[in-house]
Amino acid sequence: MTPEKCLIQFSQWAERYPGPISDSIEIKGETPGPRKLITACVHGDEVGSMPGLLETIKRVSERKWSLKGTVIFALGNPKAILAKKRFLQGDLNRQFSSQRGEHEEGVRATQLQSLLKKVEYHLDLHQTIEPSRHPFYLSENEERSLSLAAYLSGSPYLIEVPAELNKKYGTFMGAAMNEDVAHICLEMYQKGFSDQVTDLTLLHLKKMVDLDESLSLKNNSMESFERLKIVYQEKFDDLKMTLNPGYLNFTEVREGEVIGVNSKSELIKVPRDGFLLFPKYPQRNQEGEVLGELPKSIYELAVKI
Ligand SMILES: [Zn+2]
Repeated sequence: MTPEKCLIQFSQWAERYPGPISDSIEIKGETPGPRKLITACVHGDEVGSMPGLLETIKRVSERKWSLKGTVIFALGNPKAILAKKRFLQGDLNRQFSSQRGEHEEGVRATQLQSLLKKVEYHLDLHQTIEPSRHPFYLSENEERSLSLAAYLSGSPYLIEVPAELNKKYGTFMGAAMNEDVAHICLEMYQKGFSDQVTDLTLLHLKKMVDLDESLSLKNNSMESFERLKIVYQEKFDDLKMTLNPGYLNFTEVREGEVIGVNSKSELIKVPRDGFLLFPKYPQRNQEGEVLGELPKSIYELAVKI
């Protein structure tokens, strides 16, 4: 499987089941039920969910899986998928605010945001850049979103994203919260294709297809989750800022631990005990300066709650 082949197959399905925006598919089930949105590749290089997504569409189309309600499948950033890049001009998952860019990703954010008005549930499929010890969910502390995570129950780790952070960054999650759409972001291991990611995608999408009106916290216990909360982001504001090699998602760190250095030779110290998330190792030139746009943070820190 290649990203190009996945895109071709997706557009063939889109001809048969056209969705509300470009590169989207809408299928109505035989039985009534909620309206659901499943998005993949909001980051163009996180292609691992596409084979599972295509297989899901096939199974629903052939009625091997019985769809309750309506489902919209949308590819986040097809142009970046083709270019084999995270994004072309701006990180799409930072464009869901009033200050979105006047470029490809800004336009696509407007289209994707319009889908949120049509649904009650949203699952957004991502992969981390660096390896992860486990897949994990990201969610705001909002009851319907948490119950969606508990219902999906494909990962024991749930990381709470503060609402302020979603507002500040202009994320898809923040946009979903504004529209009262229950939203879960699923981060699946390291970017790229693998059987492990395809299986995990299928497990989640089967659950989304099956999802009916009965979803509630009463039926789905939060006790099975290890819950964490993002408490800190280290700003990536220096081209030469560098993390020591080898950090993964969920690497455990201690208060005061030195994990990197900046251009003024100041040490990057962890402010409190916790777990590293989204450690960044971007490409650099020979002088050690980051090529392209700086990510917003060089790492984030989560603590157990
Ligand atoms: Zn992503």
